[in-house]
Amino acid sequence: MSLPFPGPQRPSRSVARRSVLGGLVVLAAASAADIVRMLVHGGGGTAAGDRAGLRPRVVNLLTGNLRPEDTTPRPTEPATPKSHPHHSHAPVHHHSHGHSHSHGPAHHAAHNQSGKQHHHETKHDRAQARRAREHAKLPPARLHIRTSPAYRLDQLIPNPPEQALALTIDDGPDPEYTPDVLRLLDKYQMQASFCVIGVHAAAYPKLVRDISRAGHIVVNHSYTHALPFSKLPEKRIVNEITKTQRAIERAAGVTPQLFRSPGGEWSRFIFRAIASYGLEPLDWDVDPRDWARPGTKKIARRMLRARPGEIVLCHDGGGDRIETVRALRKVLPTWQRKGLLTIPLHIEPHYLTEK
Ligand SMILES: [Zn+2]
Repeated sequence: MSLPFPGPQRPSRSVARRSVLGGLVVLAAASAADIVRMLVHGGGGTAAGDRAGLRPRVVNLLTGNLRPEDTTPRPTEPATPKSHPHHSHAPVHHHSHGHSHSHGPAHHAAHNQSGKQHHHETKHDRAQARRAREHAKLPPARLHIRTSPAYRLDQLIPNPPEQALALTIDDGPDPEYTPDVLRLLDKYQMQASFCVIGVHAAAYPKLVRDISRAGHIVVNHSYTHALPFSKLPEKRIVNEITKTQRAIERAAGVTPQLFRSPGGEWSRFIFRAIASYGLEPLDWDVDPRDWARPGTKKIARRMLRARPGEIVLCHDGGGDRIETVRALRKVLPTWQRKGLLTIPLHIEPHYLTEK
């Protein structure tokens, strides 16, 4: 099986085959039957890798992410949803998996293969095959791999309202600024997508919960915001992604659908890794450079240049963000007066498969 993965961090093929991530990428890209074959025959690892305990780690890494309860999109609507066209669309999940008892081709492949291998099949092998079947039943959208991030609304949401734009707020949650930003958004009935850093989400789970319950979207923005993100070792990149998913799930009971790479840095590897976790890459096209603290006026003026359909960036964490909060005090009522609305980036899985 080839590894179609010429990313900048790509190690030599033999190393990739042995590495945990090599296994992950292979599994993410393989067809259902391939996955089962690979797991039953051990095609994903070498004998040395097996002895070193690498093959079980591949599977643990996968199943750690792909437990049925983790792959089911969870409702992100608040208890009392604000009226908004996109809030009427709960995530549609057409494909049952995990607990389903229907036996598709993947099941038969596993059954046949394991029958042949019965003489040295272990309990562990059977568990691997079962997990592979669960994996194979994932909706196709989960394996959709983009080659560039979304930086406009219509790349994530079908037919967005004409006067809609997206406000993305990065690097929090922050106990000093996030509550102010939430109050402002509530006051002007605007909704945003908060790209949270995992360590902050773990430190301030209540803020993540407040964000989500107010109807805003929580986006995975890595665990430590290490830069340059695309140059990190592959294993570290995956840890940054998974730990943040867990921190957000624990804090707010929602599973992010979007990943924003720190610094907007992307690589082939990042696209593949996030696809295997069911995440879509999120970028932006309006950057007021508020993080450089150029002054409230400049930030507000730059944000107000945004046109419908665009994705605007700003920050509620990562330093002194008082200028950003003050800019939002001007920007939000101005957008409201102009009839613009900011909508949450609530993406619909079946839309993404069609793109
Ligand atoms: Zn950031």
